[in-house]
Amino acid sequence: MSIYSSVQQKIAERINDGKISTSKWTDWQWQLRHVVTRLETFEKLLGIELEPDERRKAEQTLEKFPLAVTPYYLSLIDRQDYLNDPIFRQSFPNAQELEVTRCDIGTPPVTSQDKPVSSITHRYPDRAQFHVSNVCAMYCRHCTHKRRAEDTTNIPHLEQVHAGLDYLRSASEVRDVLITGGDPLMLKDAYLDWLLTELREIEHIQIIRIGTRIPAVLPYRVTDELVATLKKHHPVWLNTHFNHPREISTSSRQALSKLADAGIPLGNESVLLSGVNDCPRIIKSLVHKLVENRVRPYYLYQCDLSEGLSHFRTPVGKGIEIMESLIGHTSGYAVPTFVIDAPGGGGKIPLGPNYLISLATNKVVLRNYEGVITTYKEPDKYEEKFCDRKCDQCELHLNLEYGQEMETTGIEKLLSDHDETISLTPSGNERLERQNGNRSG
Ligand SMILES: *Cc1c(COP(=O)(O)O)cnc(C)c1O
Repeated sequence: MSIYSSVQQKIAERINDGKISTSKWTDWQWQLRHVVTRLETFEKLLGIELEPDERRKAEQTLEKFPLAVTPYYLSLIDRQDYLNDPIFRQSFPNAQELEVTRCDIGTPPVTSQDKPVSSITHRYPDRAQFHVSNVCAMYCRHCTHKRRAEDTTNIPHLEQVHAGLDYLRSASEVRDVLITGGDPLMLKDAYLDWLLTELREIEHIQIIRIGTRIPAVLPYRVTDELVATLKKHHPVWLNTHFNHPREISTSSRQALSKLADAGIPLGNESVLLSGVNDCPRIIKSLVHKLVENRVRPYYLYQCDLSEGLSHFRTPVGKGIEIMESLIGHTSGYAVPTFVIDAPGGGGKIPLGPNYLISLATNKVVLRNYEGVITTYKEPDKYEEKFCDRKCDQCELHLNLEYGQEMETTGIEKLLSDHDETISLTPSGNERLERQNGNRSG
């Protein structure tokens, strides 16, 4: 398959009112200059004509959530059956986006404790998200930070980025920084180079991760220059976002291959979307194609409760069903973790089928992916190692230089020997407040 297909040539001709060369089509700046933001252009380029009612509903939706799609991404749509096309559904406005249901949450909620400065989300102990760009090559209809028509800001102010860097310099527990946006790869090479240099100078930051949809929606952005820039700042990891096997085109493959050749470990985060990929066979085909292109499926997300996404949501059971179809049935490498991002800033919660059927003190009863029920015999003798967290005296040889001691939190606390906690109680528990005599109300 050519990188510049006949469909793409036709679209380019319609944009340009005449033929253009491959090098123009594959110039990412040309693609960005011709991002489709109007319905008429969308129709003209794809060669479709919307029903008047369809067009009116789409117009109304755009007043709230604007349209933006690269000619490249649009070219992947199958115009013969565009209404059911997964690429169309991810890029074209749907009137159901305007339906606000009872459980929709406006913008993704983050508590102020999680946001020490506006460009940082520090939710987990040792890693933080750094928002460095508000721009994307296209607006995904399922985005949780859905761009509203009134949003006009593009790049976070330099002061916000500097404040983020200052925070990261002072937060010595952060060993993993996730650069997000918008899309960080929309930034210029020189700016990225500067940013990565600044981050690399922070000694406690071990790895830098980039979250980007570029390989799926604007693969031509992955130039030799970009890759050379990223490569200078290793270890750099990159997670991308493919939701359907049809998105993995020849152009995307080339982009992924360049990144992988530069030694950048690649991961993929998909969102489970009704009408797009809520099918075990589609996800299996997607993860196989990803692994074939040296991309490790990382997360499969349950769709968030953000406003305008109700029509994309599936029951949680669909995700479990998909996980059931993957685990054991295909390479472990190809299996992502299915997660729900807890509403209210609770972070990601992994979910999956259950394999533990029962247990006694000497035996565990398990089932495998085929439904075979099996037993695992526990050891007759296990010398319990009492852990008082005096790791320098422990026979297990934890090299303290690498195993920085940290306070135990959460369920880990309940499991540990060195912490006396026997239960965790949410704050504001009325029963305990009564016991303590703090009767209120
Ligand atoms: C997902 C996420 C991370 C990274 O989590 P991993 O499970 O390590 O990939 C960090 N910060 C925030 C706010 C996140 O949502």
